[in-house]
Formats: sequence, structure tokens, C-alpha cells
Amino acid sequence: MTRRVNVSTVAELRFPDRCVSCGRPAETHSRLIVGPTPQTGGEAPVMQVPHCARCARATQVIFLAGLLPFGAGFVLVGGAAFVVAAFGASWLGLDEIGQPNNANSLIIGAAAGLIAGILGAFVFELIARVALLLVFGRALWNAPPLTAQMFEDSDHVAGLTYHPARGDNLARLTFFNDAVAAEFAELNRLPDLPR
Ligand SMILES: [Zn+2]
Repeated sequence: MTRRVNVSTVAELRFPDRCVSCGRPAETHSRLIVGPTPQTGGEAPVMQVPHCARCARATQVIFLAGLLPFGAGFVLVGGAAFVVAAFGASWLGLDEIGQPNNANSLIIGAAAGLIAGILGAFVFELIARVALLLVFGRALWNAPPLTAQMFEDSDHVAGLTYHPARGDNLARLTFFNDAVAAEFAELNRLPDLPR
């Protein structure tokens, strides 16, 4: 059962001193990115989420299990699309249009490569997720795909997902452990929300 907690600010939120995922005593922390990188520069705000050693490790493994096929899909599919589109455009004579020595084919290739790369990353990650679901089970299922995280500015660690504020909606923390969510809400005097 997941539990959503809306928060108007992530600053100064406190966590109970136990693993946010399994509820055992906290041994370490994992970084949850809460919000986009500021446009003025600097690093994106980060929340230190308490984890037991095992869930902290699972967080990293599951991140890599998404990142590796994601990266491979982007490079392979995006690269292939770049080559095909750039050569195709060049062959069609698009470089002859406009200024001399312009690089229409490269621009078209880059655009095609970027779009195809994102699609490829998504598809590769999805295939890997289905295959790895047998190994990681729920822990992987709970983690949103990296493509979704990229577009939503959301982030996930074992037992907890962050969604930024959007429109009229407040920022949201989704807990996968009810008991920890209840303690968290109490500790920060947040209204107890329906599930
Ligand atoms: Zn744990």
C-alpha cells in the first residue's frame, strides 16, 4: 500500500530514525533529489533519506539497472538515427539549401538522434525492467522509469518517490511503507491524508 504525503516545502522536513523502505533501524542515508537544478546555477536540492544498509544498496543497484539499458538505448538507437538522418538529408541535397557550407544534415541528424535516443532509452529500459522484475521484484516495480523521472523532475529511492509541485498541486512524497509514512506525517505535523 502506498501513502502520498503532500508537502508545501521540503525544507526542514524530518524523517523518523529508521529505514524509510523496510522500517529497520537506519544505518545510512540515500540522496533524494527534490526539485530541479536552480537556473541561477548550483546543485539541485537534496534530501537525505534514512536507509538501512540493504535498502541503500538496493537503491543504487536499481538505479544502475535502469541507467545502463537507458544509456545503451540512447546511444545505440539515437546514434543510428543520427547517422541515417544526417546521411539521408545530405544525400537529398539539403546541405545545398541556403548558405554555402551550412550543416542542415547535421542539425536534422542531431534532432532525429535526440528524439530517437529518448525513445530508444525508454524502450530499452522497459525491456530490461520486465526482465529484471524477476530478480528485483517490487523494489524495481516501485521505481518510476528514468525517462519518466527525467520529464517529471521526480526522483526515487527505495521506499520513497518525490514529485515536484505542478500547477495547483503541492510537491508530493509517496511512501511505500505505511507505518513510516504515518510517523513522518506526525513528526512534521502534516495533516494525515487519505490514501
Ligand atoms: Zn531497509
